[in-house]
Amino acid sequence: MQANQRGRGGKAGGKAGKRTLGDGARDALHAAGAKAAAGEHGAAATAYAELARIAESRGRPGAAAHIAVQGALAALAGGDRDQALAIAREGVTLASGVADQRRVARKFVPFIDALSRDDADAAAAFREEAKKGFGLKLIPAPGETVTPNRAQRRSLPKACGTCGEPVDSATVVFQDDGTCDCALCGDPIAG
Ligand SMILES: [Zn+2]
Repeated sequence: MQANQRGRGGKAGGKAGKRTLGDGARDALHAAGAKAAAGEHGAAATAYAELARIAESRGRPGAAAHIAVQGALAALAGGDRDQALAIAREGVTLASGVADQRRVARKFVPFIDALSRDDADAAAAFREEAKKGFGLKLIPAPGETVTPNRAQRRSLPKACGTCGEPVDSATVVFQDDGTCDCALCGDPIAG
């Protein structure tokens, strides 16, 4: 649906300050992260889950998946496996219509790994649900991260076009498939 506005080239996202997720989203994402860092896992998880719904409603299903995974991980860190699974499942549902299923599906791997340390059966069951949700035969493993070359660095926008988070070209990493996602909202900033 919204795949045509995502833009495959790096140039399209070059306008710093334009954010499709809304002006408050970046602050809200940082606030949720601060809650998680402070040990307020349940509150962080709830905040992330709400932000994931907002991301989907703004036509950013890939960001919704990334944000839901942060929420599910926060819930798991707080010891609430039911909340974690509920948020992760909702994340799959929110993102199931995404155009680039493989890039988005692999975002769930850190959650599956964390869950499997807790409950291997639940992790295996969720992996099956995610595969079905994205219509994939398998959930791709996260790629190796690589330091961008000079051309990739030059093509980076100053800020994420989805959430407005500044892009630090000195520290940003690319996946081995040539994509580079915003560390805050998870939408592609290049690739
Ligand atoms: Zn972003």
